Amino acid sequence: MKVIIVGGGIGGAAAALALLHEGIGVELYERTGEISEIGAGLQIAANASRVLRRLGLGQELERVGVPARRVSMCDLRTDRELHVTPLGEAGAARYGDGFYQVHRPDLLEMLAGALPRGIVHLNERATGFRQDEAGVTVEFESGHIARGDVLVGADGIHSTVRRQLLGEQELEFARLVAWRALIPVARAASLGLEPDCHVWWGPDRSAVVYWVRAMELLANLPEGIARPQSRRALRRVGAGAKAQWCCVERAQHRRRSARRLPAGGSLSRRGRCCSSVV
Ligand SMILES: Cc1cc2nc3c(=O)[nH]c(=O)nc-3n(C[C@H](O)[C@H](O)[C@H](O)COP(=O)(O)OP(=O)(O)OC[C@H]3O[C@@H](n4cnc5c(N)ncnc54)[C@H](O)[C@@H]3O)c2cc1C
Repeated sequence: MKVIIVGGGIGGAAAALALLHEGIGVELYERTGEISEIGAGLQIAANASRVLRRLGLGQELERVGVPARRVSMCDLRTDRELHVTPLGEAGAARYGDGFYQVHRPDLLEMLAGALPRGIVHLNERATGFRQDEAGVTVEFESGHIARGDVLVGADGIHSTVRRQLLGEQELEFARLVAWRALIPVARAASLGLEPDCHVWWGPDRSAVVYWVRAMELLANLPEGIARPQSRRALRRVGAGAKAQWCCVERAQHRRRSARRLPAGGSLSRRGRCCSSVV
């Protein structure tokens, strides 16, 4: 049996590895010139780390990932801890494996690096497919044609494969915008954040901070509700995200100095930001 995979992101690369692990032949086609990922961090819970370990990537996951010992959920306005999920050894015993925080490019590099030579075909943009009794034929912009028994569309949110299978589907903007930044740990050292997952919940928004890259960097994901009908509105959301990081910073400082928040705890723009918003 041969499976054609269109898309060399985390989904396509993981599917290719899993199929090869089961002794099934695979060809993976990626439209860009390299298998690469942008973006900040990703949290790998036990259901995923178990699979990666089964695919022989356990040691590599431990090398690139930062294991979280706990998830701490706090109130963004008061920094009061609302809930703690114990992870670490207790979590591994309960869920069957660890909870790892990884830099996205490290995860994709780990997956793609485990694929044998000859599987990945770069610079091949799929344009469509034909199905018949015996299998499937995939067509590419380059003129190349691939023939297999099964086609897996792992070509992301604007999937060509899905569009042909299910027809044009209108994407709906959820009006939620997430800002992500990578911050060198040294610049955030004064916050005294442990290498765990820290979440702050507040009205209409939340912030998540966790460590990636074996303690070299910190990822920060403030989220907010936006109505970005104009560039100006989007810039305002950006400023809000910056202010939110300041708020997280100040909340941490407050926790340590045991000072009380002014009433309301608004997202003031005063204070020093560790990073520009990306
Ligand atoms: C803010 C945010 C935080 C998240 N956090 C987490 C998390 O903590 N844990 C978690 O498990 N998940 C998380 N997710 C979800 C996860 O990131 C995505 O589900 C995952 O990255 C999707 O991977 P993918 O391979 O399906 O798609 P993509 O990464 O989009 O890859 C698609 C690939 O297909 C290629 N391609 C596209 N069209 C074609 C074509 N026609 N021909 C050939 N190639 C093509 C593209 O170039 C690309 O390489 C998060 C998502 C977001 C937005």
